[in-house]
Amino acid sequence: MPETHHETVTDVRHWTDTLFSFRTTRDSGLRFRNGEFTMIGIEVNGKPLLRAYSMTSSNYEDFLEFYSIKVQDGPLTSRLQHVRKGDSLIVSKKPTGTLLWDHLRPGRSLYMLGTGTGIAPFLSVMKDPDIYENFEKVVLVHGCRYARELAYGQLMIDTLRNNEYFGDIVRGRLLHYPTVTREPYEHTGRITDLMESGRLFRDIGATPFEPDDDRVMLCGSPGMLKSLTDMLHRYGFTETRKSDFREYVIERAFVDK
Ligand SMILES: Cc1cc2nc3c(=O)[nH]c(=O)nc-3n(C[C@H](O)[C@H](O)[C@H](O)COP(=O)(O)OP(=O)(O)OC[C@H]3O[C@@H](n4cnc5c(N)ncnc54)[C@H](O)[C@@H]3O)c2cc1C
Repeated sequence: MPETHHETVTDVRHWTDTLFSFRTTRDSGLRFRNGEFTMIGIEVNGKPLLRAYSMTSSNYEDFLEFYSIKVQDGPLTSRLQHVRKGDSLIVSKKPTGTLLWDHLRPGRSLYMLGTGTGIAPFLSVMKDPDIYENFEKVVLVHGCRYARELAYGQLMIDTLRNNEYFGDIVRGRLLHYPTVTREPYEHTGRITDLMESGRLFRDIGATPFEPDDDRVMLCGSPGMLKSLTDMLHRYGFTETRKSDFREYVIERAFVDK
């Protein structure tokens, strides 16, 4: 059992019948790096029921925010989806994770590729001013089934573009490419297909992946991670391992049981 804090829920928003976000207080002693996850949960029958969650908030904000799936028979989220302002949540004191921009070797463009709730860690990373100092271009690609599932990410990006301190640099360097697979939309199709065909690169005015220039962070389902890492290997990319910083890093958005 990790060491934990109790935090208070200060806001809850339901985005679709399967997605919601919530904000909590943040203990001033909780330190994390943008892109990390921690264990959060509630008490059930007197015992903590915890699951891994990425923070969507950044390490300089005085609250914590999370974006969650609602799994109808899921041990945690069948309950957590009913959480309300004022409720107490358990939050582990030991955030960790691999989606750290400085665990990549220096490059020119940073691609963050996420599907479903896999966008969560990138909403934290994109708020880090350091990435705009270290990359000429930051591309956030979010794949979902339906357009309504893009709303939370879109709101966070719009808010960041209007940030009074670094909105200008974000507007110049952050490209957002949302794509959906199950209904008509401006961009449609799986991320892997859009990259393999070259369509995504053409749409954003970039050249196809090049291991000397491009750095990639991936967060999604086991299937998404497999198809994208297979593709990256074909382009000649290798994964960061411990302190051997390479061209891409990955994190699972969830574990299939
Ligand atoms: C490193 C890491 C970070 C994570 N970050 C988040 C996050 O920010 N937001 C979040 O909602 N979940 C996240 N998860 C998943 C989360 O830990 C739980 O699995 C999820 O909250 C469901 O919990 P549960 O107890 O209701 O169901 P579980 O028993 O944990 O899961 C039941 C089944 O639901 C499916 N499932 C679980 N989570 C998801 C998901 N996010 N998207 C699609 N299908 C899913 C899987 O098939 C799983 O087998 C993360 C997981 C890992 C490993």
